[in-house]
Amino acid sequence: MKIIQFSALIIILYCGIFTGACAEPANQPDQNVPVAFDSKRAFDILKKQCEFGPRPPGSEAHRKTRDYLFTELKKYADSVTLQPYTSVVDTVDDPPQRKKLHMNNIIAEFGVGHDETLLLAAHWDTRPCADQDPKLENQREPIIGANDGASGVAVLLEIARILKQTLPPKRIIIILFDGEDYGKTTDQMFLGSRYFAKNMGKWRPDYGILLDMIGDKDLEIPKEQFSWTANPEFMERIWKRANKLGLAPFKDRAGPAVMDDHVPLIRAGIPMVNIIDFDYPHWHTLEDTVDKCSPKSLEIVGRLVVSIIYEGL
Ligand SMILES: [Zn+2]
Repeated sequence: MKIIQFSALIIILYCGIFTGACAEPANQPDQNVPVAFDSKRAFDILKKQCEFGPRPPGSEAHRKTRDYLFTELKKYADSVTLQPYTSVVDTVDDPPQRKKLHMNNIIAEFGVGHDETLLLAAHWDTRPCADQDPKLENQREPIIGANDGASGVAVLLEIARILKQTLPPKRIIIILFDGEDYGKTTDQMFLGSRYFAKNMGKWRPDYGILLDMIGDKDLEIPKEQFSWTANPEFMERIWKRANKLGLAPFKDRAGPAVMDDHVPLIRAGIPMVNIIDFDYPHWHTLEDTVDKCSPKSLEIVGRLVVSIIYEGL
């Protein structure tokens, strides 16, 4: 993802209004209590992705990771679908090459039959170049993406296990976007979410939450500004829930505006909130590795999302 000036976002953003899809009554007393979020398991899933190596589109590790994620989700979801698409993009080589890339969003569905649909999203690809690395010789190398990529996916795969064990009171779509972090510039990034925004079909959600870069040991999550501008009420409810649960890393202050996978969906009329800790010194460097992340951070975000799924907002 990329950070951009807040002044620009008023112009480019569709200002959707969060109209009450989340305004569900609180849990019924007889509703099943979900099993606890297992932070160790989530962290193992983060590590497993990193063990494949850097996972940029077109690589062998990318193919292996796709198969791993698909197989894992199959164990838990009502259905899992690969949503294939092709993008013609410039590679990050110098000079760039024009290349046709085949990519896949991975879409898992739970709680089929419920009308209300909550989308939970993360990106599963990793950046093909460490262009923010302080060492020049590293800047063409692909990153491991322990935080930027693997962390959000890890939380959602653990939530998939919970959804299997305790049926959700709403339909949940977990989507793992491909091609989020590919291009040199933002017009060649967010490829999977752009494609999905135009091809939602039966998966069209009422509202959604994006998780990105939530594994940082030093977790602090302010209010991302594209989300806030488009859906302040939705975001406020999420932060109030975090506060109620005692999740201190959620900060009641404005964060940066971060171009990310939620923006194409907001533009398509879907209320989306991005939960992201963009204050991460290892962003798009070779240092974005497992040791910079913690199970505790995954658990904090996981507990919040589980609460939203089962208790509403
Ligand atoms: Zn990134």
